[in-house]
Amino acid sequence: MRPFRRSIYKKPEQLRGMREPGRITAEALDAVAAAIRPGITTLELDRIAESVIVAQGAHSNFQLVPGYRHTVCVSVNEQVVHGIPGERVLEAGDIVSVDCGAETDAGWNGDSARTFIVPGEGQDPELVRQREELSDVTRGSMWAGIAALASAQHLGQVGAVIEDYIESNPLPSTGQPAGILRDYVGHGIGRRMHEDPTLFHYATPGRGAEIKPGLCLCVEPMMTAGGEDVFVEDDDWTITTLDGSSGAHWEHSVAVHAGGIWVLTAADGGAAGLADFGVTPTPIP
Ligand code: MG
Ligand code: MG
Repeated sequence: MRPFRRSIYKKPEQLRGMREPGRITAEALDAVAAAIRPGITTLELDRIAESVIVAQGAHSNFQLVPGYRHTVCVSVNEQVVHGIPGERVLEAGDIVSVDCGAETDAGWNGDSARTFIVPGEGQDPELVRQREELSDVTRGSMWAGIAALASAQHLGQVGAVIEDYIESNPLPSTGQPAGILRDYVGHGIGRRMHEDPTLFHYATPGRGAEIKPGLCLCVEPMMTAGGEDVFVEDDDWTITTLDGSSGAHWEHSVAVHAGGIWVLTAADGGAAGLADFGVTPTPIP
């Protein structure tokens, strides 16, 4: 028996501590967004994110993961998640998912991911359109899941909402729903980047953890434009589609508190993304 088990529900003052790493993580991704262009390397994006985090007096929590030395993961085209930054040069039309996190000196964590389409001409317009559709539907499924946190009782309901969104919004160019990565999950966040409970991004038989004030959760759907099967590349990290279809990944860290929900890794608390779902975020008091 474990002598001590931390509650998955944080006290109000602990929730307040979660705001700072969320803000810093969002600013690091803003800097990456501003820098993405043809010709930049994935390692340069890593350095940009790290410089923002360090300048704010925080540090990379990805570097606390055993064996990982970078500040972000950058996954390009058929790579979905966990791509390692390096000398790869981005090209116009590439679909690029960037996952980033920061930990403050106070010991609280943020974790967020965005998918970008590298601007510029030269790539097959049909392929670029499909990549844009994939990113849009993945982002939409994330916001649907976050919105569900405002009213659902258990995490199982959130997973069902995400899967239903994907099923209800097939990719226009293929007529098929995006493929869901079922072996990779969302998670609690707090003193560590990855904590209990687990969030599945699809319907499951179990009810899942109770949603109540104090829950901090990363909602992070990972989707493909084709099949659901993926494999781990020879670098032992990168998760890539088996059929070579494109991947997308969107993630936010979200706090549930007594007054409602607040997206910790969005500058507006999630107001813009949640508006489509009739949910208004409430700042953590
Ligand atoms: Mg992440
Ligand atoms: Mg995460």
